[in-house]
Amino acid sequence: MKADPAVQRQLLELAKVDAELSRTEHRRRTLPELTEITDVEKKLQDLRDSKVAVETSSSDLDREITRQEREIESVRAREDRDRKLLESGSVAAKQMADIEHELHTLERRQTALEDDLLELMERREALGLDAKRTGAEVDQAEGVLAAAISRRDEAFADLDTTHARRDEDRAKLVPRFPAELLSLYERIRARGGIGAALLRSRRCGACQLDIDRNAIAEIKSATTDSVIQCENCSAILVRTLESGL
Ligand SMILES: [Zn+2]
Repeated sequence: MKADPAVQRQLLELAKVDAELSRTEHRRRTLPELTEITDVEKKLQDLRDSKVAVETSSSDLDREITRQEREIESVRAREDRDRKLLESGSVAAKQMADIEHELHTLERRQTALEDDLLELMERREALGLDAKRTGAEVDQAEGVLAAAISRRDEAFADLDTTHARRDEDRAKLVPRFPAELLSLYERIRARGGIGAALLRSRRCGACQLDIDRNAIAEIKSATTDSVIQCENCSAILVRTLESGL
């Protein structure tokens, strides 16, 4: 393939623009904020799950406490009724003994229920503290997440601006190349390589490998408008005075 050496040299500009486009794309995919966001989102999900678990336990316990309080109320009501009966003096001696026995039983029951209630309330208090701590942790993680998202969006916006500018540069450069040369350049890139690089001091500017003696001899004997490719990485080797030929 032949191409005007001046046009070949312009491939270096195109390669530079393409390198920057690749860099911005790579940077967009590997922003540290992306990992941070994934990690914080996972942590936040765990924290929210814990918060729901604590809230569920709390409302279960609230119901249990209400039940216990009602039970105590009903025991107290029976005690009151028994005491009134005893005070009224309207019951027979045999019945009075029964009532006194029942009253003692009720009092013991009330004490036991009150002890249980106290324990329930202590557990409720501990859960309340848990809920408060988990809530604060959720708030904190949400703050960290929002900050990371905002940093990511800022970085994305900068990268998008750079990318758009380089796209414009590329659109201006592309029409300068003959179709055949551009197509070769694009084919090399499509295989994951660098399309064109400077041949400098007998070294390929793309793969950085030294060109062997025989290949250099061939390059030297080729006409200046010959399109030469690196034997190793296929990059179009652009020759200038720096090439050391
Ligand atoms: Zn190479």
